[in-house]
Amino acid sequence: MQRPEPQEFARVLSSMCTEPHPAARAAAERFLATNPGDPGTYGTVADLEREAVDLLGEVTRLPDPTGYVTSGGTEANIQAIRIARNRTRDAVDRPNVVVPDHAHFSFSKAADLLSVELRRAPLDEDYRADLDAMAALVDADTVGVVGVAGSTEYGRVDPIPDLAALAEEADALFHVDAAWGGFALPFTEYAWDFADAAVDTMTIDPHKLGQAAIPAGGLLARSSALFDTLAVDTPYLESTGQVTLTGTRSGAGVASAVAAMRELWADGYRTEYERAQALAEWFADELRERGYDVVDPTLPLVAAALPEATIGTLREAGWRLSKTGSGEARVVVMPHVTRGALTSVLADLDRLG
Ligand SMILES: *Cc1c(COP(=O)(O)O)cnc(C)c1O
Repeated sequence: MQRPEPQEFARVLSSMCTEPHPAARAAAERFLATNPGDPGTYGTVADLEREAVDLLGEVTRLPDPTGYVTSGGTEANIQAIRIARNRTRDAVDRPNVVVPDHAHFSFSKAADLLSVELRRAPLDEDYRADLDAMAALVDADTVGVVGVAGSTEYGRVDPIPDLAALAEEADALFHVDAAWGGFALPFTEYAWDFADAAVDTMTIDPHKLGQAAIPAGGLLARSSALFDTLAVDTPYLESTGQVTLTGTRSGAGVASAVAAMRELWADGYRTEYERAQALAEWFADELRERGYDVVDPTLPLVAAALPEATIGTLREAGWRLSKTGSGEARVVVMPHVTRGALTSVLADLDRLG
């Protein structure tokens, strides 16, 4: 099979990233050699990072946001768990974090790195966090509770206000992972953001539905005191402390995140969400009409129980298609996924299936 060009998206149905907005691409190129990890030297990009955080605060309805542009959702999730652990360091010997079973695998990395026990609670029948199952795993050593707003496999949004209350009762940090869903959710009816619940920290990635260039993730916190638990001294920089996980960081990611959000927040993201959601629902209906079981797309992500051989055939035809843990074909309706593309998937399915 011929490999497509590195940035060719026509047949990519599997990715949670997408073609950057043209303004984001241009900004990334301009800032390629800048390092927001050294704000004393690279002041312009440091200013832009503050703007990025302010814009992310608007998207997630957090006045006076603190945070930074991470290398991605993985770093943001690791850092959130690190905050949860560090702020209780003197009080808890064997810390644990309670997550719903669909929590992204980055939490497994975080738990391993930080020597925190990860407790995964089974989901309810609609693939959302089950409050009772989560509560059953919480105990005196629980330092963090996680809710997912836009799960990786099925695009589900957990009951965030209920989980926030559970975390509060346990005196644990409450973290929301909206890495993928964060730029679609403002236009839905879900309660998921800082204004809806007592969320302490949140992951939201500009390099996914935010249409920024890679790498641009986001970590936000309700109060800057939460970040204080991460600070290390930085003797040879002009700034005196650093809370980020990596040292040298991508100025291209920061600049492209700002450029994308300036262009698209809020109407551009709304228009794209409405397009993608309608397309996902149409595609789900088309698959159902062909007799396949489809998981209802509550965000623009369709999972359908296609036979394994059929998935293989579509892959051979050049479609980049991923699978869920239980083997369903998974189509992420990102900005580059058009109705034309999904129409030809269906045509291939009818012809080859
Ligand atoms: C993509 C994703 C992540 C990981 O983000 P990276 O940018 O790939 O590191 C974490 N959580 C969720 C819900 C995601 O969709």
